[in-house]
Amino acid sequence: MLFSGIPKLLNTFVLSIIFLSIFLILKSFHFYKELNDSFEKDIKAEARVLNDYIISMKDIYQKQLFKSGLELNEKTLGFIPAHASSLIPENFKNQQKYYIKSVSDRPRNKNNKADKEEQKAIEFFNKNDDIEYFEKYNENGKQYYQFATRINIEQYCLKCHGKKENVLPIIKEKYDDLAYNYKLGDLRGIISIKIPTENINNKVDSFFKRELIYILVVIMLIGTLLYLIYKKTKLLVTHTQKIATDYAMTDSLTGLYNRHYLKNIDISEFVSSDYYIIFFDIDYFKKVNDLYGHTCGDLILKEFSIILNSYSRNDDILCRYGGEEFILIIKDIDKNILEKKLEKIRKSIEENKFIFQEKKINITTSIGYAKAEKGSEFIIVLEQADSALYTAKERGRNQIIEYERI
Ligand code: GH3
Ligand code: MG
Ligand code: MG
Repeated sequence: MLFSGIPKLLNTFVLSIIFLSIFLILKSFHFYKELNDSFEKDIKAEARVLNDYIISMKDIYQKQLFKSGLELNEKTLGFIPAHASSLIPENFKNQQKYYIKSVSDRPRNKNNKADKEEQKAIEFFNKNDDIEYFEKYNENGKQYYQFATRINIEQYCLKCHGKKENVLPIIKEKYDDLAYNYKLGDLRGIISIKIPTENINNKVDSFFKRELIYILVVIMLIGTLLYLIYKKTKLLVTHTQKIATDYAMTDSLTGLYNRHYLKNIDISEFVSSDYYIIFFDIDYFKKVNDLYGHTCGDLILKEFSIILNSYSRNDDILCRYGGEEFILIIKDIDKNILEKKLEKIRKSIEENKFIFQEKKINITTSIGYAKAEKGSEFIIVLEQADSALYTAKERGRNQIIEYERI
């Protein structure tokens, strides 16, 4: 078939949109992950800046304190950053709700005791050489990032955390056996920064929602476009197929349906009740051709079909069955009316003057018909009408014969 490739093309279109949608959905999930990673990187970078600032401040204050020559006693001890840092989280109010603290697994101040998550970071640093720790965790239904860096023992730290006999007197006095015997480079604790994931989740979600809406709009637009193309092409195909079918089922000389049409229609769709099949055959048509030529014969066939058509109703089927034979199918008609109608046709053919090159030509037609009752097989009724036509020919032509059941 001329258009058999089009359904395939449409299938390809449909498949393309499915693949495109799957691709875009996968891409958007990939994008979600990338977005999450990128925001996580930003958070890490922020934590690093905060961490570096805290370390540098801690360092400076520690050194400043020792350089100042201030005697460390009960009152001045609180200036040591290790002590002061436990107060920082309470004081550090920030919109991001970051929490910053230096904590240890062996704190002298119990406020600086590492919690469960911080303890994990300490264990991590004890086992690995990494300088950073970054993990997600849940607490009371909320999610946080735990960022941590090492606090390693430096030379000045030993003044408080070295061997007990070498540390400052006030320290010795205050802390019995707590947090001594550290060596240079040992892990004393960590800078712990806790960040709620809520902010970044909100950011990711709003970014992702926008991306998802964009993707859905694109899919919908492409889908609508393809659907419109599909509909238009289908319409065109149906239309063109109809033209092709009509062309194949139409007799080119008379414009009536041809034999193919009768073969292809489902007669049960045409009739639900009784109907009649009527066969017309022009009498001695060969002679017309022989006497006046084929062109004249064609002209008569055309005019003959016009006369038949003028007697048929919209829901009748009229077709040129072949040569000079025509078939008329009429449904829902009373037999008396049919007989009168057929007689009118016969008479008007007989009386009609077919004019060819100013010559008046007379023809007659023989008519045979049969009734199809509900459930009759079309082909059988057709044969019966043909057989009635044969009888009409036998009995002298130019007459109407009904098929008689024996
Ligand atoms: P009968 O009364 O027994 O029907 O005799 P007939 O001559 O009509 O029948 P026959 O079957 O012997 O001849 C039919 C003729 O119809 C033969 C053929 O030349 C002619 N015919 C068939 N189709 C066409 C056509 O399309 N154009 C023309 N001009 N003639 C055609
Ligand atoms: Mg014939
Ligand atoms: Mg004939």
